[in-house]
Amino acid sequence: MPLICDICGRHLSPAEVNTIHATSVVNAASKGYVPSNLPPTFKSRHDLFGFTVAYYWANIIVKTNSSSDWGLCQDCLDELDRFNSK
Ligand SMILES: [Zn+2]
Repeated sequence: MPLICDICGRHLSPAEVNTIHATSVVNAASKGYVPSNLPPTFKSRHDLFGFTVAYYWANIIVKTNSSSDWGLCQDCLDELDRFNSK
């Protein structure tokens, strides 16, 4: 299985993956965090369901993955950390 960042969908080498527990993502999403680097596939999918990007992200993506680990690239992890440390 190819490794990709669970937020932006970028392909990663095993060394580039930062594995974090979903709690950080769930907490950030509950405070209004929406990643700035969502993949194009994400953007076409939310349209399909008639949701806004923010709604689809927080209520579909985050909720359905709220008990698993997330693998993030450094950029997405940095953005998440910046948001959570506010
Ligand atoms: Zn990423």
